[in-house]
Amino acid sequence: MIIGVPKEIKNNENRVALTPAGAIELTKRGHEVYVQATAGLGSGFPDADYEAAGAHILPTIEAVYAKAEMIVKVKEPIEPEYELIREGQLLFTYFHFASYEPLTNAMIKSKAVCLAYETVEMPDRSLPLLIPMSEVAGRMSIQEGAKFLEKPMGGRGVLLGGVPGVEPGRVLILGGGVVGTQAAKMAAGLGAQVTIMDISLNRLRHLSDIMPANVNTVYSNEFNIRRHMKEADLIVGAVLIPGAKAPHLITRDMLKEMKPGTVLVDVAVDQGGCIETCTPTTHEAPTFIIDDVVHYCVANMPGAVPYTSTIALTNATLPYAIQLADKGWKQACADNEPLKLGLNVVDGKVVYKGVADAFGLDY
Ligand code: NAD
Repeated sequence: MIIGVPKEIKNNENRVALTPAGAIELTKRGHEVYVQATAGLGSGFPDADYEAAGAHILPTIEAVYAKAEMIVKVKEPIEPEYELIREGQLLFTYFHFASYEPLTNAMIKSKAVCLAYETVEMPDRSLPLLIPMSEVAGRMSIQEGAKFLEKPMGGRGVLLGGVPGVEPGRVLILGGGVVGTQAAKMAAGLGAQVTIMDISLNRLRHLSDIMPANVNTVYSNEFNIRRHMKEADLIVGAVLIPGAKAPHLITRDMLKEMKPGTVLVDVAVDQGGCIETCTPTTHEAPTFIIDDVVHYCVANMPGAVPYTSTIALTNATLPYAIQLADKGWKQACADNEPLKLGLNVVDGKVVYKGVADAFGLDY
């Protein structure tokens, strides 16, 4: 199959959908890989590394779309790309169709085959192509929180690990899923005193088994949140209710009860946020302060660490890309139910219920 890797053109997107390691895996199976010039540069992969992996470099995005039977990307196509997409062309990328109707309409019109990373789903309902980005955001939440706890950054001036003779900082994590678990590991590793809350007792049991002694598990309810937030130096919002907006576990009135200089990192901001006062921010201006409490609410946290994020993402996507290239999308989806659930728009029709429901379309 002929595979195309365009350079991402969305603002501040430095990730790329295929690494040179991935290019080797595809070319050695007899596939042709065409990468747009400098597509990997933002993630630390120069064109020469792709050429050494057997891929070809094309100068423009137009050339990549014109050549490829399958386009692998990171972000959804944006307006300038719509007209480059051809009937029957396979697109394998994040789409998040339900959140943007013009994209859905453009893909229906294109008659392309749109296989969305975010709806590939395993029998246990886990989302294997979203997990790597949650892992990155979870680990980053503590790194960012620690940074903004520094006095010059607006924080309390607390070193999370403390030092001998000085007690460590306290970290409260709301939600013990992928993000929360990774955050807890990082905070514990720094030596902080960590409390992780969830409404799933099974999740808390599991966390209690695997976490070190400086991580406590506490059932998530308003009483417990109010009690623990007063002591916290850093609070991480990491809840998810699938298909719904995040609940506001920290409300505006609670900020006054926190210590001045407390840092809130609301990772769930992309689902509306679990902290009432959080609104999405960017890496250029990641924080704002309300009632002396620092709010960090970057909606695309993994974008700041494109080297790690690209490799983490492609580790997860490549096995599927190989199946699609080897068998074609019809056979690959027939053989692999989780992959089939990634199909969102095919030949001018929406084939994913959530997207059809979002826009009142036939399904
Ligand atoms: P997950 O499904 O693995 O975990 C969510 C956890 O929240 C579950 O364990 C669930 O039981 C728990 N939960 C639900 N309601 C709760 C409540 N009231 N109190 C405490 N816990 C509760 O999800 P995840 O992969 O960890 O993702 C968490 C959030 O992070 C999602 O909103 C996701 O979209 C977001 N995210 C953001 C970024 C970013 O860059 N900002 C990156 C990746 C993921």
